[in-house]
Amino acid sequence: MQTTCDVCGKPAVYFDNRSGKGYCALHFRQMLEKKVRKELRKQGLSQNERIVMGISGGKDSLVMMDLLWRVEAPYHVELIALTVDEGIENGQYRGRRMDLIKRMAQERGIKHEVQSFRDKYGFTLDEAVQFLGGKEEPCTLCGVLRRRALNDYAKGLKATRLAIAHNLDDEAETVLMNVIRGDAKGLMRSENYAEDLYDYYVPRIKPMRTITERESAFYAYLIGVPPEEEECPYARLSLRDGVRSFLEDLEEKHPGTADSMVKFGENIKVKGKRVDRSFCSLCGYPTSKGRDICRVCEIKGMMREAEERI
Ligand code: SF4
Repeated sequence: MQTTCDVCGKPAVYFDNRSGKGYCALHFRQMLEKKVRKELRKQGLSQNERIVMGISGGKDSLVMMDLLWRVEAPYHVELIALTVDEGIENGQYRGRRMDLIKRMAQERGIKHEVQSFRDKYGFTLDEAVQFLGGKEEPCTLCGVLRRRALNDYAKGLKATRLAIAHNLDDEAETVLMNVIRGDAKGLMRSENYAEDLYDYYVPRIKPMRTITERESAFYAYLIGVPPEEEECPYARLSLRDGVRSFLEDLEEKHPGTADSMVKFGENIKVKGKRVDRSFCSLCGYPTSKGRDICRVCEIKGMMREAEERI
């Protein structure tokens, strides 16, 4: 194992088992900043943008906030941190990291906004799971509702981009989950929204797309982000959790597995092809072709029915 930094020759504090390179703390941080800069250029980020960052308080989101601040602040890019409280464990789950998010945002001169499922939908995730848990996986409900909430609040803040903290391992998991679900459309769907949907959706960026889970965890340690003491109570019920363990095991034995999965996902995407779609008859948002109402309105409708039955 390399014991010195590949760049300056000082003692290494991080060893990358995929490339075989070692890094001191300074050059490790610079290596990650370079990756983010490159990825943002690739994703078409320009100057004078207003980026709303989805900040859950998990390590990846806080690492993204720090990296975007370091990389983008000199280019007249305005950053806003947005936390959506889903109402898990009565809000206590998100609440545990709220002070940390506020402090980190404040130290970097970043405005921090908090919104909630309760404000947006009139119910919390806990309530949705209680009423609909038998029909839908909690993480599926959470994902559908959180994506819409983040988008709409970002739109309200006049964001030109919505930054999501998915790292390389998350991306690899998504590819494999689509395969397991037999969701060929999900696999082929382009990374971002087609331009004709910009009236509805804020274009998304994923600055951490090439940063591994391990790199993110070490960067979090370097900038003083403490590990989360408790995971979300619904996490263990998700397909993602099983896929994550499987990929972690493979990555350990075969370094580079996550990179290959992401490359496979990229190669299979259909670029520039207009996707046929329908529009929700209730909220007007785009939805999959053939659907009368979108998933968000469907969940809201099921919740209304469940509440009426009580
Ligand atoms: Fe939502 Fe699932 Fe993440 Fe919990 S683990 S915050 S339910 S997506």
